[in-house]
Amino acid sequence: MLESQKPKIYQEGKERFPAWWIILENLGYLLNWGLGFVLLMPFKYNGMPIVSWIYLIILVIIQVLLKKHNCASCYYYNKWCHLGWGKLSAIFFKQDSGNPDLGIKLCISYILQLPVILVAALIAGFVYGFTILNVSLLVVFVLLNLLQGVVLRKKGCEVCKVRFICKGSAAK
Ligand code: SF4
Repeated sequence: MLESQKPKIYQEGKERFPAWWIILENLGYLLNWGLGFVLLMPFKYNGMPIVSWIYLIILVIIQVLLKKHNCASCYYYNKWCHLGWGKLSAIFFKQDSGNPDLGIKLCISYILQLPVILVAALIAGFVYGFTILNVSLLVVFVLLNLLQGVVLRKKGCEVCKVRFICKGSAAK
């Protein structure tokens, strides 16, 4: 963190988030990504859900890059942030070893996930047929994304130490 940023730290923010918060948020993301994987499964090649696997590989690559280019230069590097990813980043990457400008660009993946999977799942439904299970999972996926993107993200940012500094903050 740059010296010039320190005065803007939100003093009342949490220095360390509780374990229940970190676990619940991570479970929410795992559920979100898992639903994305399942919703893409109708696209198959030789019986293999090839699009789901491509989605998973891209997701893992982007998440690894985010740990380097976002988390390694965050105030919460090597700390228990609301996702615990500051600690995760410290295991694999040196502090300030990433490119924060690239990191913020990669965050667009969080915004794109909902429309891309939604459109793909609808196309899969029209091509391969809608099932009650797939429609139900799609509804859960949309609601979960809205809950995470609109409600929970703001809640986390409101008690974050870098809410006034972070380019991705929903509570400036
Ligand atoms: S302000 Fe929000 S997006 Fe930025 S590091 Fe804190 S919780 Fe994450």
